[in-house]
Amino acid sequence: MTTKMCVAENSSGPCKSRATVKVGLFWVCNFHRAANWNFYREVLRDRLIWQMNENDCIVRHTYGVTYFFRLPNGNIKIGYASNAKNLAHRIQELSSLHGGKVHMLAAVYGGESMEALMHYKYKDHKIVGSLGEQFKPDPVMIEEISNLGIVPMGIEALKILKEMRN
Ligand SMILES: [Zn+2]
Repeated sequence: MTTKMCVAENSSGPCKSRATVKVGLFWVCNFHRAANWNFYREVLRDRLIWQMNENDCIVRHTYGVTYFFRLPNGNIKIGYASNAKNLAHRIQELSSLHGGKVHMLAAVYGGESMEALMHYKYKDHKIVGSLGEQFKPDPVMIEEISNLGIVPMGIEALKILKEMRN
């Protein structure tokens, strides 16, 4: 079997790292796979949903809740979950990944489409580290998010989490 090379280009020329995955028609390395995903998320998904929202084209958001967690390092994680159990597991997963308490600042109705909207809204706060995408908040962002409140599915998730820890 021949080793496939990443077909992506860096600023200095072709990447040529060992390709590990096929994205569409092209073989790319892990780094360029992540870069491709980030590009897709930010430029296509998030911007499209934002523009739809600006033009009142969103009749109803996709199923689920979008959560805003405060990580042990003070940054914010924005994601979505389909039910209370998944939401509780997500908190636990992030707690062990980041080695500390993860605090739920808010949880609002709306799944992936709402997540996309929130990712676009706070895109200027976005930082990408080794533990994935996070948002570095300022006091205004913290206040805006805290004012969103926690819907019943979020409250339910916190109960489940308590039971899991007992
Ligand atoms: Zn590459």
